[in-house]
Amino acid sequence: MKWIIRKSMAWQLTIALILLTSTYTVTILLYDLHTRYQAGSHYTSLVAVIARSQAHTSILRNTLEDFRNRPEDTNVVNRLENLLWRIPQHINGVSFHLQTSQISENDYYAPLKQLKDIREGLSEMHQQLDEIKLGGSPYNFLNQGQIIENDLAMAYTILEGIAHSEAGKQQIFMERLGRTVAALSVTVIILITVLLIGFFKLRQKHHKVLHLSMFDALTQLGNRRYLLHHAEAFCRNSQRCDSPLSLIIIDIDHFKYVNDAFGHPAGDQVLERISEVLKREARAIDVVARLGGEEFCILMPDTSLDGAMQLAERLRQKICGLTHQQLNVATSITVSLGVTVACKNDMEFKKIYSRADKALYKAKTNGRNRVESA
Ligand code: GH3
Ligand code: MG
Ligand code: MG
Repeated sequence: MKWIIRKSMAWQLTIALILLTSTYTVTILLYDLHTRYQAGSHYTSLVAVIARSQAHTSILRNTLEDFRNRPEDTNVVNRLENLLWRIPQHINGVSFHLQTSQISENDYYAPLKQLKDIREGLSEMHQQLDEIKLGGSPYNFLNQGQIIENDLAMAYTILEGIAHSEAGKQQIFMERLGRTVAALSVTVIILITVLLIGFFKLRQKHHKVLHLSMFDALTQLGNRRYLLHHAEAFCRNSQRCDSPLSLIIIDIDHFKYVNDAFGHPAGDQVLERISEVLKREARAIDVVARLGGEEFCILMPDTSLDGAMQLAERLRQKICGLTHQQLNVATSITVSLGVTVACKNDMEFKKIYSRADKALYKAKTNGRNRVESA
C-alpha cells in the first residue's frame, strides 16, 4: 500500500514537473513573441509617421510653386494655409513619437530642434500670408518658404536615418534575446529531464535495495525481516477479527549430510526445490519465508491448528516424494515440521514462534520426517 502511494506520488511529481516546464517554456516564448511584436510595431509606426510627414516637403514645394505662378488664386492660397496649419501638427506628432521611443535624446536633439524652429517659421509665414492677402508682397514669403522646405526635408531625412538605424539595432537585440530565451528553455528542459531520470534511477535502486534487504537471493522467498515485517500486522489483524493465526516451521533433516555428500551447490538446488514446493502449496495470503540455513516457515492468517496440521502433513509428503531427478541428488529429502496456532489472547509473535520451534524440536527428537504441534 505504502509502495503504491509512493508510486502515485512519483507520477504526480513527474506530471507536476512536466506541466511546470511546459508552462514556463510557453510563457517565456509568448513573452518573447509579444516583446518582439511590441518593439517592432513601435519602430514601424515611428518610421511611418516620419515618412508621412516627409511627404509634406514636396507638397509644400509644389504649392509654393503654384503660389509663385498664381498668387491671386484663392484655391492655391487655401491649400497653402491648410499646409501651414498641418505641417506643425505633424511636427508635434513626430516629436511625441521620438520622445516616447527608446532612442537616446542626444541622437535626435539636433533634427528635432530644427523641426521646432521650422514650426516657428511656419507660424511667421502664416502671418505673412495674411498680409499678402491684404495686398503685401509675396517675395519674402516665398524666400522663407523655400528655406523652410529645404530645412524640413533635411530634418526628416536625418530622423528617418536615425529611426531605421535604431530599428536595425533593436532587431539584432531581439534576435539575440530570442536565442538566449530558446537556449534557456532548452537548458531548463534538459535539467528537468536529467532530474527526472535521476529521480527514477534512484527510486529503482531504492526498490532494489529494499528487495535485497527483504528477500533471499537463492530461493527468492522472503527472509526473517520480511517475516517479522508481516507478522506484526497479521497478529494485530487476527486479534481484531478474533481469527486464528497459525505458524509452521520447516527444517530439512540431515541437510549437513547432503552438503557433505553431494557438495554445497547440490545443497543449494535442494533448497530451491523445497522452496518451490512451499510456495506452490501455500495460499497467496500466507507468508512463506526462509528463516536462514535450511529452515523455513509459513505464517497463515485465518487458519486453525487443524488446517495448519493438514498443510504441514501435505508438505512433508510432497517433499518426501520428490524424486532424485527432481532434487538432482541421489538421496531422498525429508523435513521435520513444528506447528502451532495463536488465538485472541496470546497474539504475540515471539511466543508463537517459540511454540512452533518447540514443536519442531519435538519432531526432531521423535525421529524426524514428521509433524508435531505445540
Ligand atoms: P537436523 O536434521 O538436525 O536439522 O540436521 P542438519 O544437518 O539439517 O542440521 P545442521 O544444523 O547440523 O546443519 C545445517 C546445514 O545446513 C549446515 C549448513 O552447511 C547447511 N546450510 C546452511 N545454509 C546453507 C545454504 O545456503 N546452502 C547450503 N548448500 N547449505 C546450507
Ligand atoms: Mg536441519
Ligand atoms: Mg536447522
